[in-house]
Amino acid sequence: MNDQSLALSAISKTYNKGRPNEVQVLRDASLTLDRGEIVALVAPSGAGKSTLLHIAGLLDTPDDGAVVIDGADMTRLGDRARTAARRGQVGFIYQFHHLLPEFSALENVVLPQLANAVPQGAAEARARELLDRVGVGPRADHRPAALSGGEQQRVAFCRALANAPSLLLADEPTGNLDPETSDQVFAALMGLVRDTGLSALIATHNAELARRMDRILRLDAGQIAAA
Ligand code: ADP
Repeated sequence: MNDQSLALSAISKTYNKGRPNEVQVLRDASLTLDRGEIVALVAPSGAGKSTLLHIAGLLDTPDDGAVVIDGADMTRLGDRARTAARRGQVGFIYQFHHLLPEFSALENVVLPQLANAVPQGAAEARARELLDRVGVGPRADHRPAALSGGEQQRVAFCRALANAPSLLLADEPTGNLDPETSDQVFAALMGLVRDTGLSALIATHNAELARRMDRILRLDAGQIAAA
């Protein structure tokens, strides 16, 4: 087994290349995440955190550089293989939960597993286990609108982990919550990540949350530096 869950090597990304509004967001950005490590990615708004996470999560492609997940080079995969790798190996969490409003919490955690060919019974059992672990088991049959902001985000964590990815990428995962809820929800996320032995790269503005992770990286002028 590979010791690194993620390796980004010399990633460059420019939007609107050759146009007057060209913006070079990443220039030779490199980082590695060891298995089981939780790393904070800290930078001001607009510095390119979302761009970097999208490239690491195979939602976008770099102009240059390599993306290696679990030792496998993902950089030049075709669309189908890229989608399969993303579904199976990467979990993504956003600032807003993006749960499907017409489905229950349980169904929101079951659906990505069905898309990954997991049988219904096994998918439900895993969904219940994950929801129990973050304390929303009793709310499993409610739709997102009937849940609090903190509960919605806990369900979104479970959905991200539903297919047992090896890598979790989170973009300001508690940025939408009040400070107290943010603190509790962040603790739930850390517990879940530690329990499952995942690696996580978590973008945050919050210096206090960043300090609770194993390591802090800064994104500055398109490059990654240790804090
Ligand atoms: P952050 O997540 O740190 O706020 P982003 O990665 O969202 O930063 O954005 C970095 C820069 O790239 C910003 O200047 C933003 O306006 C620009 N940008 C992001 N996405 C696009 C896009 N699809 N097209 C053009 N510019 C973009």
